[in-house]
Amino acid sequence: MRRLTNRPDAGTLFALALLVMLATTGGCSRSIEVVGPTACPLPERTSPPESRPPTPPGAAKVVERCLTNMGGPKTIVHEVGPLETVWRISRMYDVPVESIYRANGLKPNDSLRVGQRLTIPNAKQLRHVISLYPNPQWKYIIVHHTATDIGKALQVDRAHHDRGFWNGIGYHFLIDNGTLGKGDGQIEVSPRWIKQQVGAHCKAGGMNDKGIGIALVGNFNEDLPTQNQIQSLAYLIKTLSQYYEIPLKNVMGHRDVEGASTDCPGKRFPWSNLRQCLTRR
Ligand SMILES: [Zn+2]
Repeated sequence: MRRLTNRPDAGTLFALALLVMLATTGGCSRSIEVVGPTACPLPERTSPPESRPPTPPGAAKVVERCLTNMGGPKTIVHEVGPLETVWRISRMYDVPVESIYRANGLKPNDSLRVGQRLTIPNAKQLRHVISLYPNPQWKYIIVHHTATDIGKALQVDRAHHDRGFWNGIGYHFLIDNGTLGKGDGQIEVSPRWIKQQVGAHCKAGGMNDKGIGIALVGNFNEDLPTQNQIQSLAYLIKTLSQYYEIPLKNVMGHRDVEGASTDCPGKRFPWSNLRQCLTRR
C-alpha cells in the first residue's frame, strides 16, 4: 500500500520549479516571442573546432544557439547566402553534412552557388552559428539598420555590390526580420566576417577598420525592430564583446560615432530595451 505523506510528488515539484523559473525570468526574456511551435531546449553550446570538422579556417571556436525549433524534423528548402558552406548550413539546421550532400546529389568538394536552393532533410532547428577568430583589431561594435522594410544578406550583398563596395555586403552580420524567407531574428554571417576583412559600414572614426558592423533589417526611423531581432542582437553583442573584450561603452549606433552624419540605426531604435537585454543573463 502506498504511504500517504505531506511531501509533494515529483510532478508537483516540477510544476513548482517551473512557476519559480517563470516568475524569476526578467522582463527582457519574458518578452521573447517564440517563433517555432516550441521553445529551444538548449540555450547554447560551444564546439571546440576539432569536434565538428571542418571548422571555418582560422576560427578558434564556434558558438551556436537555437533561435527556433522546427517542431519535429522537417524537410525544408534553403537558399544559399553569400559564402555559406554545407558545414554552416548543417550546423544551422542541426543536420549532418552527409544528409545534405545526399539529398542534393553533391560531393564533399562541390562548391555552392549563391542563391542555389538546397533541400535540407530532417531540419530540427534554426540556429545561430557564430565563428570567433582571434583578431586584436576589433575594438568597437557599430549597430546599423538597413533602412529598408525587408531584407536578407543575399539582397544586401547585391545592393552593396551595385553601390560599388569592393566586397559586397559591408556589414559583418545581418539580423533578419522574418522577411524574404529568413527567420525573425536570424543572424546571417557576412563573408567579411568569415574572411576577417575590414567593413564598409562606417567611415567616421576609422570604424571600418576597428568596428564590427552589425545591421538589423528594418527602418527604425519608422518602425521598431522585432523583439527577436533585439534578443539576437543582444546575444551577438554579448558573444563578441566577451570574446574580443570590447567594453559596452564601445558598442554604439552608427549615428553616435563622432563625425558620422546619419540617423542610422534610426530615431526609434530601442536602446533602453537593448541595454536591458544586455545586462540580463
Ligand atoms: Zn549605418
